[in-house]
Amino acid sequence: MKQDYVISIDFGGTKILSAIINSSEGIVARVKKATMTTDTKKNLPLLITQSINELIMQTSIPESSIKAVCIGAPGSVDPRTGIIGLAPNLGLKHYNLKDEMQKYTNIPVLVENDVNLAALGIHGFGEAKGLSNVLVVFVGTGIGGGLILNGKIYRGASFIAGEIGHIHIMDNGPICGCGKKGCFEAVASRTAIVRDLSKSIRLGKASRLAKLVKTKTRIKSKSLLDALIAGDSLTVKQVAKASETIGKTLAGVNNLLNLDMIILGGGVIEAMKKYTMPTIKQSFKDFSFRDSAKTTKIIATKIADESALWGGIELAREFLDIEV
Ligand SMILES: [Zn+2]
Repeated sequence: MKQDYVISIDFGGTKILSAIINSSEGIVARVKKATMTTDTKKNLPLLITQSINELIMQTSIPESSIKAVCIGAPGSVDPRTGIIGLAPNLGLKHYNLKDEMQKYTNIPVLVENDVNLAALGIHGFGEAKGLSNVLVVFVGTGIGGGLILNGKIYRGASFIAGEIGHIHIMDNGPICGCGKKGCFEAVASRTAIVRDLSKSIRLGKASRLAKLVKTKTRIKSKSLLDALIAGDSLTVKQVAKASETIGKTLAGVNNLLNLDMIILGGGVIEAMKKYTMPTIKQSFKDFSFRDSAKTTKIIATKIADESALWGGIELAREFLDIEV
C-alpha cells in the first residue's frame, strides 16, 4: 500500500521543530534546529529547507510521497496566501513565506498561525478530539490562542482571531511586544514573570534566582520550576500571580464563548503544571459567570510540543484535500 506523509514545521522565537508525519504511523522522523536571529527574511527559508532535506535523508521515504509542507508561524497568517501579516518577535511584516519557500521546494507549502496549527492537532488527534468548542492557549515567551468553534478552526475576518495574549487587562500596565500597554501576555507570560522577578531582586528581595539575574542569564521555565520546588517565596508569589491572571482572563473569554474545553500548553504550563494548574482552575472558577464554567473542562495538553506537528495533517486536509 502506498503511504503518504506531510512534513510539519513549527517555528518560534528560539527553535524550529520539524517532522515527517501521517495519521497512521505518527511521527516517523524529526529534526530540531535553533532559530537564526539575524536576517530572518533571508535565513528562514534556508533553515526550513535544510530541515526538509534532513528529514528526507533520515528516512527512505521518496519525496513524491510527501504531499505538503505545513508551517506553523507566530503572528497573524493568511493560510490561503501564506502571508505572515505581522510577527513582531521575528521582525517580519507582510512576508510571504509560502512564495519564498516554493523557490526551494516543489512540494506544496501551507502556512498557518502556530497556535492555530497546534489547536488543529489537539482537535484532530489530542485531548479535544470530537469536541465542538475548544480554546487552546499556549503560555511561554508570549501567550497565544487558537479557537475551534462548531468543530472548525475559527480564524476571524482577517485571520487574527485567537489573539488572547493581546486582550487588555491592566490600565497603565507593562508595555507589550505589540506596542500597547497592559496586554494579557505582558502581565502573565514567562517574559512577564521573569521581568517582575528580576525587578524585585534588583530592589533587594532575596531569591534563589538572584545569581541568574545578576549575571544576566536568561531565565527559562526550568529555572523557575527549580526555584518553585525549592520553595523560593518570590518565585512562588510571581507564578501564583500569573496563574491567577490566566484563570481570570480565561473565565472572561469563557463567559463569552461557553466552551467545552480549554487546553493549556507552552513552556510555562509544561514545566510548572503542578504549580500553575490548581491556581488557574480556582481563579477560573472564581471569575466565571454563574454556571458558564460548570461544563467547561480546563486541562494541560499532553502533546504540547507535538501538537502543531499533528496539526499539519489537518491543514493539508483542509486546504489541499489530502488524506495522509
Ligand atoms: Zn499586546
